[in-house]
Amino acid sequence: MDVSHILDGLNDAQREAVAAPMQNLLVLAGAGSGKTRVLVHRIAWLMETENLSPSSIMAVTFTNKAAKEMRGRIEQLLDIPARSLWFGTFHGIAHRFLRAHSRDAKLPENFQILDSDDQLRIVKRIMREFNVDETRWPPKQVQSFINSKKDEGIRAAYLPPTHSQYDHTLAEIYKQYEAQCQQSGMVDFGELLLRSHELWLNNPALLAHYQDRFRYLLVDEFQDTNTIQYAWLRVLAGDRIPIMVVGDDDQSIYGWRGAKIENIQQFQFDFASPLVVKLEQNYRSTSTILKAANTLIANNGDRLGKDLWTNGNEGEPIDLYAAFNEQDEANYIADRISSWVDQGRQRSDSAILYRSNAQSRVLEEFLIRQAIPYRIYGGLRFYDRQEIRNAVAYLRLVFYRHDDAAFERVVNVPTRGVGNKTVSDLRVHAREQSISLWQACVERLQLGLIKGKAKQSLTQFIDLIDSLSAEQDQISLAQLTEQAITRSGLKDFHANEKGEKGQARLENLNELLTAARDFSVDNDDDDEELTPLAAFIAQAALDAGEQQADEHQDCVQMMTLHSAKGLEFPLVLMAGMEEGLFPHQMSMEDPSRLSEERRLCYVGVTRAMEKLIITYAESRRLYGQEKFNPVSRFVREIPADLMQEVRIKNSVSMPVSFAASQSSSFGEESAEFHLGQVVNHAKFGEGTVLNYEGQGSHARIQVNFFDHGSKWLVLSYAKLEAV
Ligand code: ATP
Ligand code: MG
Repeated sequence: MDVSHILDGLNDAQREAVAAPMQNLLVLAGAGSGKTRVLVHRIAWLMETENLSPSSIMAVTFTNKAAKEMRGRIEQLLDIPARSLWFGTFHGIAHRFLRAHSRDAKLPENFQILDSDDQLRIVKRIMREFNVDETRWPPKQVQSFINSKKDEGIRAAYLPPTHSQYDHTLAEIYKQYEAQCQQSGMVDFGELLLRSHELWLNNPALLAHYQDRFRYLLVDEFQDTNTIQYAWLRVLAGDRIPIMVVGDDDQSIYGWRGAKIENIQQFQFDFASPLVVKLEQNYRSTSTILKAANTLIANNGDRLGKDLWTNGNEGEPIDLYAAFNEQDEANYIADRISSWVDQGRQRSDSAILYRSNAQSRVLEEFLIRQAIPYRIYGGLRFYDRQEIRNAVAYLRLVFYRHDDAAFERVVNVPTRGVGNKTVSDLRVHAREQSISLWQACVERLQLGLIKGKAKQSLTQFIDLIDSLSAEQDQISLAQLTEQAITRSGLKDFHANEKGEKGQARLENLNELLTAARDFSVDNDDDDEELTPLAAFIAQAALDAGEQQADEHQDCVQMMTLHSAKGLEFPLVLMAGMEEGLFPHQMSMEDPSRLSEERRLCYVGVTRAMEKLIITYAESRRLYGQEKFNPVSRFVREIPADLMQEVRIKNSVSMPVSFAASQSSSFGEESAEFHLGQVVNHAKFGEGTVLNYEGQGSHARIQVNFFDHGSKWLVLSYAKLEAV
């Protein structure tokens, strides 16, 4: 058997990892050094040389998209279909276990996944029931308390006893929340892992079955595993299944969500004598980009420490653009992408990365203006959009009528005259009888307790779900979806909405039909048969957003820095590089959070293969507020000789010395100012005019403020006064 092709295109260290014996293995390496590549090749290697069947290998990746890509790469390497590989995210794989063993896990067969919206709704409901003061216990904080406890593997029953009323209340809500989820067969994200972890602990025979079945486990992006994920791996592997983990401590960016960077070091103690392989050659980026990244991350203390080097070209310098506001920034970015395309490059080879999701709106606006197609990856998830959630809630009810979260979401959407009072009566009834809202509704209708318009609407609502449910076996998933959105009135509702919003919502609903049409369940040989509807609903909950838009269209990729992990692009534009935005305001005071922000910046810089463009805005309106923040410290941490400052081409820019010898006035509104003059600004106080450029409404002026340092201002907005 010739397996040498699997080792082709790998360096010595990579080969060592790929062809290592079946043992525990830790690959610790910097960005772009081929960790993911090694993981993929190792799977192929084990299948060929150790004769492992695809269904005896489990690989955990960070996103479903990554899993899909890996599967494709393995199929290419081995030229066989790799469908029965257990590939997916922790959540996806845990869901699969729970589905197959729902009874052992004490869940109804049709248990539903709660998304974060549903979760919040349940938390709020419980808080209302128990008259908990929302100002003292903000529901979102309660929700994140519950999630963080689950991520730590701690159930309400195991919370330490407390004398604090505050903690006691949190614990009580958590307890109620667990009870209500259990009662209605709902499982949130954290619960997927916690429950399957318990499933194994409580069923040694079942665990033994899987330990026999799986011969090798692999985990990518290991630096971002949290406590429960780590425990989950440990229990599953036991001392029977060897495991390979790959990671980079410098890219741990989910500490705020409970990820434990220490897991990398802990691994060497908890898993028997792992072979440790370090990869140090970077194959992704130019030496300029790599040097910038290395210098930046060296500002963090407490690193495991790695030397990354490259054989690659020096490449172009990093461009740094100081925009005068967020609009100018967005416009500049759109221009740069246009010229990239004019050079014959693909739009899909470029990515715009930003710290905060809210930044995307302005960027989108300018891309649309310049007719540049784009795709938002992660962030504004398709399945997170209201209209899609509503449509999916109908499908969820068709599938499982006792899905209370879905019932609550759409019982009066679109508005059909079911008032708050009616719904809260349903809740009380359901709670008293320990039944679902659906059952409560049916009972109250039968008992004649619902009157008037509400009676008529609820009867129609129940009939609609019943009749869709009766038809579901005769029609396709796409037809069922179409029926659901038409007969529920959702489609008409958005069609009658005025303006672009309604239009967009309608388009999204149509896109859902496309998704349903394209949806196919890959039923593995040994997988439980899942109806297309069940699989579709589960997918909508699990990989929200990863499927959005048309993947085949050539478009710019937009995403938050967090979602950029593991990806690479020839051209990367990092926007909004200002103090307060990045590093984020909330992280600036706390050294450990600041380090995490820096790692996030390192992730961003190391996504770039050929060209990196960094932009910041001297004034920015975000979340409805205007801010004037200096350039990010991270930009200042990149050696200046790797960067070049960009000036806008179509404006007149004069060097200071030259301008000074010219006429001392400029711009229409500015006749009274000249270089060196002292001026006053309402916010920044007094300063000296240093430079200026542009004319008319484009005119900008640079002032060195005594208290705030140097700033570029748009002259027509700055309202400067001569002193
Ligand atoms: P990250 O830390 O960002 O996840 P990584 O370590 O997983 O990065 P990969 O994505 O596996 O790195 O590889 C980075 C790039 O380098 C990819 O384009 C990959 O194909 C290429 N590459 C890796 N190893 C080699 C090699 N030996 N020869 C040529 N190209 C390589
Ligand atoms: Mg990777």
